[in-house]
Amino acid sequence: MSRYFSERHRDLIAYTPGEQPGEKKYIKLNTNESPFPPSLKARERMQEALEGLNLYSDPECRFLREKLAEKYDVNSNMVMAGNGSDDVLNIIFMTFCDEKNPAVFPDITYGFYPVFADVNGIPYREIPLDDNLRIRINDYMPAGGTAFIANPNAHTGIMLTRGEIEEILRANRNNVVVIDEAYADFSGKSCIPLVHDYDNLIVVRTFSKSCSLAGIRLGFAIACDELIADMNTIRYSLNPYNVNTLAMVAGIGTLEDYEYIKNACETIVTTRESTTDRLKELGFSMTDSEANFVFAACGGMDGGELYEKLKERGILVRHFPKERICKYNRITIGSAEDMDVLIETIEEILKEETNENC
Ligand SMILES: *Cc1c(COP(=O)(O)O)cnc(C)c1O
Repeated sequence: MSRYFSERHRDLIAYTPGEQPGEKKYIKLNTNESPFPPSLKARERMQEALEGLNLYSDPECRFLREKLAEKYDVNSNMVMAGNGSDDVLNIIFMTFCDEKNPAVFPDITYGFYPVFADVNGIPYREIPLDDNLRIRINDYMPAGGTAFIANPNAHTGIMLTRGEIEEILRANRNNVVVIDEAYADFSGKSCIPLVHDYDNLIVVRTFSKSCSLAGIRLGFAIACDELIADMNTIRYSLNPYNVNTLAMVAGIGTLEDYEYIKNACETIVTTRESTTDRLKELGFSMTDSEANFVFAACGGMDGGELYEKLKERGILVRHFPKERICKYNRITIGSAEDMDVLIETIEEILKEETNENC
């Protein structure tokens, strides 16, 4: 650390992204990316847009917002886009959290929430999941601050029903409730229709997971127009060009090609179900994931050990060195072939383990 680092930030613990390997070829099941390439339409639109990159991107993101508004049946002034949903979430922390409205989220969820709070000097409270790693909705009634709930929840993939979310919204009339739907396309369920009835709801979405565009960085929020206007005040104070032209047209192209995305999601869900069955046969216990990953604890082996052994054999999964979940690994659902290799490799590892113990 240099001696110039601001006092405000020197103790900051930054977010640790999942590894992005360089040279070595891994089967990459650690950051919930899609195994499928971006849609053709998205790629065509980006190709066409290259020539215009001498100009700034549209700070209002008009065409993209109109397309999103049409798809989700809202008005376009109820949509704000960002440089990945991480950017959108950061803007939400800055807009709706302060000393009086601390951020509130589960103890096990997306690891960026506490970092957004810290970097913005916002206090936060973590609410423990129950023993089955489920959110207890009663803990959020009211939340006593701005609530952040990933639905499906990050790492576990477990979902609250729309009815449960509605109960939380009704109990939190005096604060904002953020539903992070990064994985909602894999469940086919969404709270977006509730934005018409609840002026305290923000739904956050991303093109990174289901839409095969993690590398382009595009996310968005849908909420009532007043909340979106507040967020735009912050956005225009940070970076009005937070969505670049290629991201914008990639998003538009993807929305024009949504059958492709739907099919990809269906394939991933089918593979998730077969992977779940096979891991259970191998003695894993798992949460009921409705996302594009499974959260699996090996009966006999520590999660960190399994992570290392898979890595040695060329497969990357995600392990979180956090007490309550250190038995688990989060495994992204890749192609059917990737999952075959995963299962075979785990079988090998388990066999070696039993032989060593004999
Ligand atoms: C991946 C993820 C994000 C971030 O997505 P980007 O749009 O790539 O920034 C946000 N929230 C959750 C729960 C995620 O899993």
